[in-house]
Formats: sequence, C-alpha cells, structure tokens
Amino acid sequence: MKIKIQFFWVIYAVSLAAVYGLNIWLKRPEGNLSAAGLGILILMARREYDRWYQRVSFILALAAVAVMFYPLKQLSPQIAVGLALIFCAVYFFNSSFAFYLKELSGAEKKLIERRNGLKEAKEGKLSQAQLEDDNFEKEIKDIRSLYDAAKELGSSLNHGETMERTSEVLKKILKNNFKIPLEEINFLIIFKKEYEYKIVQSFGYDEEQLKENEKVFVNAVLKMGGKNQTHLYVPDMTKYPSESGQVMAMNKSVIYIPFFAEKKLLGVLFISGSRVDMFDPKQIDSIRILSNQIALSLEKVHLYEEVEKLSETDSLTTLYVHRYFQEKLENEIKRTARYGGKLSLVLGDIDHFKLVNDTYGHLAGDYILKTIAIILKNHTNQVDTVARYGGEEFVIVLPDHDKEHAHAKAVKIRKEIEKYPFKYTDIPIKITMSMGVAEYPGDAIARRSLIDKADKALYRAKEEGRNRVIRA
Ligand code: GH3
Ligand code: MG
Ligand code: MG
Repeated sequence: MKIKIQFFWVIYAVSLAAVYGLNIWLKRPEGNLSAAGLGILILMARREYDRWYQRVSFILALAAVAVMFYPLKQLSPQIAVGLALIFCAVYFFNSSFAFYLKELSGAEKKLIERRNGLKEAKEGKLSQAQLEDDNFEKEIKDIRSLYDAAKELGSSLNHGETMERTSEVLKKILKNNFKIPLEEINFLIIFKKEYEYKIVQSFGYDEEQLKENEKVFVNAVLKMGGKNQTHLYVPDMTKYPSESGQVMAMNKSVIYIPFFAEKKLLGVLFISGSRVDMFDPKQIDSIRILSNQIALSLEKVHLYEEVEKLSETDSLTTLYVHRYFQEKLENEIKRTARYGGKLSLVLGDIDHFKLVNDTYGHLAGDYILKTIAIILKNHTNQVDTVARYGGEEFVIVLPDHDKEHAHAKAVKIRKEIEKYPFKYTDIPIKITMSMGVAEYPGDAIARRSLIDKADKALYRAKEEGRNRVIRA
C-alpha cells in the first residue's frame, strides 16, 4: 500500500512541476494553473487508490478548484493545449500505473491465496498431528490399563479367583477401552480340568442353557479352533462353515483365543458379539495381549496346584501324606463336633513287611505298598480319606461311621488283602494286614488320643497273632 501512495505523490509532484513550468513559460496568472494542478489531483484521485485517500483528495480538490477558479478567468489557447497535454500525460501514467497496480494486486491476491492455502495446510497438518497425538495417548492409556489388568490377574494363585478376576478385567476392557456395551457381548473361558474341558467362567449367556448344553458348546468351540495354536477372529459367523450351527448361531462376531502350555491346549477364551464386524484389528491385538497374560496366570495357578497336590500326596502310593491326614482328621473332628454324629479311624500295618523286603527285595516291597494303596482306595468312598501314615502303615478316616460300621469296612479290606494274589516277577507273595479301629467321640474326643487309641488297638491285633481287626 505504501508504494501506491509514494507513487501517487511522485506523479502528482511531477505533474505540478509541469503545470508550474508551463506557468513560468507563459507568464500567466497563477490561479488558473494552480487550479489545473488540483485538477490533476482529482484526475489521479479518481483512480483506484486507497478509499480514504480518494475521498480526502476529492474533497480537497473540489474545494481548491472552487476557490482558485473564482472569479473565472479566460484560458488562452496555449494554456488550454498545454493543460490538455499535461492531463493526457498524467492520465496515461495514471492508467498504466493503475494497470501495474492491478497486476500487482493480482499477484498479491495469489500470494494471499497461497499463504492461506499454506496456513490451512499447516492447520490441517497440526490437527492431523493433534489427532495422532490423541490416538497415541489413547493407545498408551489402553496399554496402561492392559498392564494394570495383567497385574491384577497375576496376583492370585487360586483357580477360581483367577477366573473371576479374568472375567472382571475382560468386562472392564470391553466396556472402557473398546466402548462396547456389555449387553452386546458374551464370553466363555473353557479350561481343562481332570482330563476334560469345562466351562469355568461365563458372561452374558443363559447359565442354565449353558449348563444343559455344556458338552455341545465346549465341543463346538474347540472344533472351531481345531489345531490352531494362535487366535482366530471371525467377523461374520453367518458365513463361517460350522457343523454346530445351532449352538453357534447366536454369535455374530467371534474371537477364539487358545491357551497353550507346552503345546497342550490348556483352555480357550471365546468372546462373541451380537453384531457382525464388531472388533477392529487393534482390539483383537489388545485381547491377544491380555489373553497371553490370562494364559500365564492360569498356567501359574495350574503349576501351583500341581505342586500343592504333589506335596499333599505321597509319590509312591499317591495316597495323602501324613501331614495332610492330620489336618483332615482335625477338620473332620471339628465338623463332627459341630453337626453331631460319629467318625472312625482305621490304622493298618502290613504284617511282617520287613520279611517281604528281605525275601523278595525292596522293589517287591514297593510294589506291595502301591497295590495295597489301590485296594484301600477301591474299598473306600470319595469322602473317606486314605493316607500313608508311615512306611508300611496306612490310615483311613471314615466320616459318619461308628465303630461297628468302620470295623465291618476294615474287616472287608483285611479279607481283600488276604486273598489278593500279589505277584512280583512271577513270584506270588502272601500279604496280610493288622488293623486297629477307634471312634470319635466314643473312644476319644481329641485328635491325638484318637490316633493313640487306634494305634493301641492295632498293637493288640499284632499281639493277638496279626491279620485281624481290633476295636479300641
Ligand atoms: P510287623 O508285622 O510287626 O509290622 O512287622 P514288620 O516287619 O512289618 O515291621 P517293621 O516295623 O519291623 O518293618 C517295617 C519295614 O517296612 C521296614 C522298612 O524297611 C519297610 N519299609 C518302610 N517303608 C518302605 C518303603 O517305602 N518301601 C519298602 N520296600 N519298604 C519299606
Ligand atoms: Mg510298622
Ligand atoms: Mg508291619
């Protein structure tokens, strides 16, 4: 804008100089020519300059012309021609200047457009960056909640508790991170328990229906995964070839995540949504990370339970160990004391077992111990506790058994052992067992004295010639 104003004044000054030069040359009264100078001003102000300048110059010019031309004086032909020439020159310069300005303003317009374009691009880039930044932050948040979830999962060594936590963590992630309403989600955790896959945790399914169809459902899910060792996502179950259509029909989008431990399938996490295409790849990734954590914590619990079981059972006979028996007896006494009734204890000792070892060898002795353990297990119930009391001594806790009932059971076992065809490396071995029976609360009310009573009865059985059952 500055250049326009400067240029204006330059032309104006040159024009005035021309008018005044003409004036001096013609020696004419000043008024006419001053008015002519102002005329130039009007001429120029008519052009496209700044609006404020146009207005001011117009007003000044009009005022000056009015003052200067009063009273009007006749123009000589020379002045008229001279003025006409000056006007033409000014007009010419002015027009070309206006054209030049137009060009300039065109270029300026382009520049402004370009600048705006750049500005927009910059803002676009900025908002893009902001978006990316937001996404990044969200991802960090997601990872953090996954990490927290993992921490929560790993802190339990109990199977049931780990399952509950897993379920809670899954719900939290689906709802808070994935923003999926929980009404649209079902999930199951299938886990191998004693050689059989069972549903150990479920969410969103009709519990009764699930219980009724547990086997069908479990088989359908396991079949879906097949031998797949990695996760599987089916965005549209209706297009998935499944023989178990009926069972799987209610699931639209399905995520199948197997848990493996040493190439053995421990279990499966099965998530299903009520809409097709419900999960995006990022969500699948998050679930996969979480399921790794679930698998680790399940494996940990699994190992812990194995170790615990090992420490509870004797490695040779797989019967409970002495410590476990003591705890169990204590608990059973407490339970019987609370609810009433009786319980009995049977203590058994193999007759002349040292002789068996000495005659047939230690391995033969081990075989006898293992076989007797099986006989004892086979002739007792699930609620009875059979334990290895010591070397070749066994103990049986019989809840809800009075002494007579327990005696009859012990006699049956004694007879079974007596007639059992023990055979080690084709050599038959004759084995008998002596037993003592004591009853709570009839014989004793404390654990130690109850064991003592059974032990004394056993001693008597030995004394009286072995292979017999004696009551305290
Ligand atoms: P009794 O009829 O008086 O009970 O005579 P016994 O020979 O059975 O009794 P004793 O206590 O003298 O001998 C018990 C033997 O049991 C001694 C020990 O070597 C043997 N024994 C203890 N634990 C084991 C085991 O784990 N394996 C084998 N093979 N023998 C064992
Ligand atoms: Mg003994
Ligand atoms: Mg013995």
